[in-house]
Amino acid sequence: MKIYIDEKKCTGCGACRAACPKGPRIYSLEKKGGRTVAIVKDPSWCLGCRLCLSVCMEDALTLKD
Ligand code: SF4
Ligand code: SF4
Repeated sequence: MKIYIDEKKCTGCGACRAACPKGPRIYSLEKKGGRTVAIVKDPSWCLGCRLCLSVCMEDALTLKD
């Protein structure tokens, strides 16, 4: 799966990282332009479960095959 994060919407809350079964391998939270945003480090760990989508309150995540 390819994981896209809309950095304009992302608040860096970390819910995606916390909910994802492989969260620490896939997501990191980084400072960018004075804000914290989620970054996809390694999408190859993604299982396609879509838990991250269900917890993102900002609708900032998109998954594509
Ligand atoms: S859950 Fe959504 S808003 Fe929160 S860090 Fe992840 S992508 Fe950003
Ligand atoms: S779809 Fe599942 S495994 Fe993939 S990034 Fe989201 S929560 Fe993690």
